Formats: sequence, C-alpha cells, structure tokens
Amino acid sequence: MRAVDMQSELTRILVTEEEILAKLDEIAARVAADYEGKDLLLVGVLKGAVMVMADFARALPTSVPMDWMAVSSYGAGTKSSGVVQIRKDLDTDLHDKHVLIVEDIIDSGLTLSWLLENFASRGAASIEVFALLRKPDAAKVEVDCKYVGFDIPNEFVIGYGLDYAEQYRNLRDVAILAPHVYS
Ligand code: IMP
Ligand code: MG
Repeated sequence: MRAVDMQSELTRILVTEEEILAKLDEIAARVAADYEGKDLLLVGVLKGAVMVMADFARALPTSVPMDWMAVSSYGAGTKSSGVVQIRKDLDTDLHDKHVLIVEDIIDSGLTLSWLLENFASRGAASIEVFALLRKPDAAKVEVDCKYVGFDIPNEFVIGYGLDYAEQYRNLRDVAILAPHVYS
C-alpha cells in the first residue's frame, strides 16, 4: 500500500519508500565498514522494526545473523507509557557479540534505554543502535544512537512497520496519521 491509496487518513507524507531505501543503502555501507571483521548480530525489536530489518539486512554486503526481541510499551494508544514488558526474549547468547539494535523509531527513548540497560548485563562486546526514525522533540531520556535514518517532527506516524492499533504497518511510506482517525 502506498500513501496515495489512503490519503484521507493521512495529514502528510514524511518519508517515501524511495527515500527510506536510499537511506538504508547509505547506512548499510557505514555499518559494513564499521563492523568489518567483527562478529555482528542484528537485533530487531518486534513488531515495528520488521520492515526496516528486512530491507536493511538485505542492503548489507555480507551474511549477518539476526535475532528478535518483542517488547511492548504502547498498547493501542498513541503515547508511550514507559512501562516495558518482554514478550519474547532473544534466542542468542550475546556474549562477545557486537550487537546492533535495529529500531523503527525513537520517540520518548524509554523503550531503548530500558533495552540498552537490559542488554548491558549480557556480556556483549559492544551495543549500538540504529533507528530509522527519531523524534528529537519527544525525548524523555537521552539514547546514544549511532545510526539515525531521519529526524522527524513530534507527531504520531504510521507506515513502514509502524502501526496505529495494528493497522498501517504495510504502508510503504512513513506518514503522519490524521487526528480524526484516532480521536
Ligand atoms: P519510545 O517512546 O521511544 O519508548 O517508543 C516505543 C515504541 O513505540 C517504538 O519502538 C514504536 O514501536 C512505538 N512508537 C513510538 N512513536 C510512534 C509513532 O509515532 N507511531 C507508531 N508507533 C510509535
Ligand atoms: Mg518499536
């Protein structure tokens, strides 16, 4: 689904699929150089990071394992609660691994700062973050994010993995959801 197919539910398109894919190529090249010769593990955060993980991992020039973590912090609303729950833990032992967490978006930063703290005790050689999107004006805690795709305004967005009440994840672009949809 493209943004043009659901224009009445959107306020504005923020990032198109083409812009996302070009950015992923750029970041994949940086990551490939930064992790050359290192035991890299990609960790995706379900479900929002599914699309970015799929396209980003395939943009990398070498074979890289991926693992998944499922946490929840939002419920069906549009504001972060700060309460993080592990719904599915990693299958991989992080010991001596160079971990790159792949995230859809950093909003308040609460989920990632919680995850980083949780991972810190698991013996990884290094832990870095790649977030496709970041809302600088929504930050409640600072998260050290090495790779950022796009800084966006403090609005509720959907698409490219991001949902509202489980809808719109399959939108190819990232767009601002029209307030009439959720209010
Ligand atoms: P946090 O506020 O940084 O903890 O964000 C937690 C999670 O909420 C993110 O990983 C997303 O899955 C989700 N989220 C944050 N902002 C948005 C948004 O604008 N649209 C859809 N999901 C979001
Ligand atoms: Mg997420």
